[in-house]
Amino acid sequence: MTIKVKVIQPPNLSFLERIYIPEIIKGLKTTLMHILNFHPITVQYPEEVKQLPPRYRGLHILPADDEGKIRCVACKLCEVACPTQAISIVAEASDEYGIERRPKVYNIDFMRCVFCGFCVEACPCDALRMGMQYELASYNRAGLIHTKEVFFDPNVKSRAPRDNANFLYERERGEILDEPNEVEKIRNASSI
Ligand code: SF4
Ligand code: SF4
Repeated sequence: MTIKVKVIQPPNLSFLERIYIPEIIKGLKTTLMHILNFHPITVQYPEEVKQLPPRYRGLHILPADDEGKIRCVACKLCEVACPTQAISIVAEASDEYGIERRPKVYNIDFMRCVFCGFCVEACPCDALRMGMQYELASYNRAGLIHTKEVFFDPNVKSRAPRDNANFLYERERGEILDEPNEVEKIRNASSI
């Protein structure tokens, strides 16, 4: 069996490239420009809070429905999607129209969570979101297990349909995302 050898020729450098001096001068010029145009970027945390990008994935939020209750229907899709098994849900029966179950217990273990957002992607009814909070420090491990009472935010409302039955019910009541502005916004966002 013959062995194929590929010979790679070194690049032909000019005299100036071989002595490196112009490249060193270019590097020093860049450093000097940074020194002359210096703007401090240090944020004086916690007195000053950093402005985060809108897609930041911080601590989770459980949004509320129109009646101010937790939207989650305890389908456990987020629990299944979580790669670190950080979510644990215990469901209980619900007697509300179109909703079979509600979470009796909904915990997220932030010692395990890697803030990947898979749980939010898996949720079929916009009942879980990533918020903008990142202050997670705790004096003990128990403090890092957040219950639904901690991350339910009644001020964050969602109008997405929970399921088909509920979608029809909410549309009948005229409470579904039918505003032309919102529909147009969604169309524009999906065409980007
Ligand atoms: S963000 Fe990722 S790791 Fe954290 S609970 Fe959701 S799926 Fe699990
Ligand atoms: S947050 Fe969403 S995916 Fe998770 S159990 Fe509730 S409804 Fe299902």
